[in-house]
Amino acid sequence: MNGPPPAGVTIPIVPVTEDVALYEIRRKIYPRAVHGWFAGWRWSLVFLTQLVFYGLPWLTWNGRQAILFDLAARKFYIGGLVFWPQDVIYLTVFLILAAFALFLFTTVAGRLWCGYACPQTVYTEIFMWIERKIEGERLARIRLDAAPLTLEKFVVKTLKHSAWLAVSLWTGFTFVGYFSPIRDVGIHAITWQLGPWEAFWMLFYGFATYGNAGFMREQVCKYMCPYARFQSVMFDKDTLVITYDRDRGEPRGSRRKGVQPRSQGLGDCVDCNICVQVCPTGIDIRDGLQYECIGCAACIDGCDQVMDKMGYAKGLIRYATQNALTRGYDARTMWRRVLRPRTLVYTAVLVILSTLTAVSLATRNPLKVDILRDRGALAREAAPGVIENVYRVQVMNTDETPRSYMIRAEGFPGLVVRGVEQPIVLGPAQSRLLALRLQAPVADDAAPDAEHKTQTHPITFTIEAVADDKVVRHEKSTFIVPR
Ligand code: SF4
Ligand code: SF4
Repeated sequence: MNGPPPAGVTIPIVPVTEDVALYEIRRKIYPRAVHGWFAGWRWSLVFLTQLVFYGLPWLTWNGRQAILFDLAARKFYIGGLVFWPQDVIYLTVFLILAAFALFLFTTVAGRLWCGYACPQTVYTEIFMWIERKIEGERLARIRLDAAPLTLEKFVVKTLKHSAWLAVSLWTGFTFVGYFSPIRDVGIHAITWQLGPWEAFWMLFYGFATYGNAGFMREQVCKYMCPYARFQSVMFDKDTLVITYDRDRGEPRGSRRKGVQPRSQGLGDCVDCNICVQVCPTGIDIRDGLQYECIGCAACIDGCDQVMDKMGYAKGLIRYATQNALTRGYDARTMWRRVLRPRTLVYTAVLVILSTLTAVSLATRNPLKVDILRDRGALAREAAPGVIENVYRVQVMNTDETPRSYMIRAEGFPGLVVRGVEQPIVLGPAQSRLLALRLQAPVADDAAPDAEHKTQTHPITFTIEAVADDKVVRHEKSTFIVPR
């Protein structure tokens, strides 16, 4: 019956319920192997990043590990540079530089970091390579997973997981080797003498690698990584993103090789689904730009191979900008627009900040000094007419040349340094905490200004390297004369 109900008739409202899943059930993705120009770049970056990550802790410098973040000693060694907690500004600058580099690359070409150099991408690539070598290509893996458990399947799976675990544990071991001397960690691991923290971090980092690259894979990018969510704010209409050329590809459809697509009312997309099968996140780039796309360009390589086979021009899926597609820019114009105010500002900030950091590192003073007044003994009379103040002075030789230092204080008549043997000798990257006493006479003839007896007087400590007057620090403090 249509129309409103008759007067006096009430129609009961039946609530419509619909089950909404809070969690999407994961559909396992079996990415197909892909070869091509971008796959070559991705593998080059896999090799490069892993060569750096696995190799750096084994390098030595001046008889010690070249790269070592010694948290226990609170010193970071990077080549010939030694960073102390007081150098935290460099860490801040490094993070700012990394952020601006990320902004620049993302503005120019989208998720370059995600697609080529992010550890999640790199280790997933390595783990998928192992998987392919042991379980076979995409179809073989699908069949193997669907097959009932047999001895052969058990052996193949055990082999794969053993290889994954070996890579993961080596990765965990290397990670720990950045914080404890790696050769010692190796000996401790072999002799089962790892400390609790070494063992914890090795296993934690190893299992994180195993879980993320072996099982979680695209889920880390889709659900855990915050970068995927805010990347779009860095995009503009001239950002290069991986794009399906809809005008050229549609209407999609299968056809025989050699047939002119336009004669059949078709575009260049043969609807082979290769671009979907090679995608590590399992999306269809033909549906447009999606946040799941990590910009790995596997679909470009996959589609280019299809285009080659069909005898069509490559680039149905390619790096393109929104402006290039809507305004029909040629490749030259599109690339020229990479240089735009936004990218120029990011580049300028990067260049200026990097230059300033390099200059600051090259000219930094290897002597650091912290002076604290001893709160327990502010001032006292050491002898009749002699006032003494106590200080805790930390002298740090932050580079690798042994040095000797002399220390003196000025700003109050008759100040003398007591309690330390001078010169103060410090080895490479060594620091010493000194309990230092300053004494000064306050008798009327030594302190003609009567005010000296009652005031807090500003003084200056000068710490100077013997035979190198460029290495010097002047630190302000106070000298207290009690009433
Ligand atoms: S859509 Fe293409 S570029 Fe994006 S993740 Fe999938 S294969 Fe990589
Ligand atoms: S790989 Fe290319 S031709 Fe094949 S479905 Fe994808 S876009 Fe179409």
